[in-house]
Amino acid sequence: MNLKDAHAIRDAVNSGKISAGEWADAALRRIEAVDSALGAFLTVEPETVLRRAGEVDRAVKNKSLPLAGIPVAIKDNICTRNLKTTCGSKILENFTPPYSATAINRLEQAGAVVVGKANCDEFAMGSSTENSAFRMTRNPYDPERVPGGSSGGSAVAVAAGMTPLALGSETGGSVRQPASFCGILGLKPTYGRISRYGLVAYASSLDCIAPFGNSPRDIALLLSVIAGRDYNDATSAPFEVPDYLSGLREPVGGMKLGVPREFFGEGLDPAVRSIIEAGIRNAESLGCEVREVSLPHTRYAVADYYVIASAEASSNLARYDGVKYGYRSPEYDDLIDMYRTSRSQGFGPEVKRRIMIGTYALSSGYYDAYYGRAMKVRTLIRRDYDRAFEKVDALLSPVSPTPAFRIGEKISDPLAMYLSDIYTVTANLAGIPALSLPCGFTREGLPVGLQVLANQFQEGTLLRFAENYMQAFPVSGPPMKFQGISRPEIED
Ligand code: GLN
Repeated sequence: MNLKDAHAIRDAVNSGKISAGEWADAALRRIEAVDSALGAFLTVEPETVLRRAGEVDRAVKNKSLPLAGIPVAIKDNICTRNLKTTCGSKILENFTPPYSATAINRLEQAGAVVVGKANCDEFAMGSSTENSAFRMTRNPYDPERVPGGSSGGSAVAVAAGMTPLALGSETGGSVRQPASFCGILGLKPTYGRISRYGLVAYASSLDCIAPFGNSPRDIALLLSVIAGRDYNDATSAPFEVPDYLSGLREPVGGMKLGVPREFFGEGLDPAVRSIIEAGIRNAESLGCEVREVSLPHTRYAVADYYVIASAEASSNLARYDGVKYGYRSPEYDDLIDMYRTSRSQGFGPEVKRRIMIGTYALSSGYYDAYYGRAMKVRTLIRRDYDRAFEKVDALLSPVSPTPAFRIGEKISDPLAMYLSDIYTVTANLAGIPALSLPCGFTREGLPVGLQVLANQFQEGTLLRFAENYMQAFPVSGPPMKFQGISRPEIED
């Protein structure tokens, strides 16, 4: 049973060939077999999963469902009713939400089966999943390396064949970068395309729920189900959700593509550069017209992003005070001391760093100089994209300056970690959709993703490009290296 193709699973369940229960069992067995080596999941409750699959099997007797029986992994910062949601943080170690995110409700109504909650950097702050308070997640192509982050667990669940689809979240690249590091697809949608009701807030002007998958078709299917207006989220876009699947195969000949000069400067690893340059030539051979463009404010992007994201995080994280929910220190003197000790003990070092940076950037006398100015720079970045999209339909670039780095390599150097987000954060600042698709492997056998960016609500363009590209230029990697298991497929 191959857990890589969501469409095939859905068809098998709807036609009664292989039940949702059998797929759920296959996913649970795969997790059992490989996840002690990889650490993708924080919570898996097999009995609940099988019970839920049974419900789907009963439902499909009456009518077909668009995601019938598809096992999915969910990043642990997306609320799931009666299933622990920790955000990778000790402060929410015992938090079980009384409600599910809208995206989860929509998945389940469509017949999907949530198999577990996936590891992530604490409150989605990080680029390696090393900031989880609970465990390390390892890259299946090289277990000594990070899977990327912050949605590393979700990416590894898909890459290692535990689930065909997963949800992560994006604030500054947390789905595209792990997708690139793990050799799968990750789509950051337009800000507002998918409801964020039930996504635990990190930086509210940037946060998005975002899917992982093995093919543009599967991502298109998932997106069609979860996108769209939600009255529980006032920032969800009121626009009709297009049928992302129907136009997928339309050829891309004549599509105008831009290559932003600023994304190929200093710091770009030569192996990544040559893989991306080959990808651009491949796009040309599909009949796309490629030209150079400029996004001149890219040089301010990392600083801009980290001021805005930290400022908003410091405000959002004020709610974890040990009073209503979350961790409360067992010992304290008075109310103020209870706040202080609960937060000091509950949050990890990276979250504390962001809270301090963000509180400073918002404090009276500094607000205009930091947050206010950063929001102005954000507008300049947005305008760079507006100008580029007057000339081209989409942009091509690397996702990350390097392939997956070694565990421990950047964790004690926050600036180096932040700088690795240079090619992803601008899409979040501009609110535009962007996708990472498998483009090649380095000589050491590490995956490298190609980033495609388009104007707001042009997810269809990204998926169509990706479908055409991947049909023409499929990449196959070396065997995955973990615990002697060399292939992600489960034998039939
Ligand atoms: N690495 C970035 C950060 O740490 C992005 C995280 C994300 O997209 N959630 O903020």
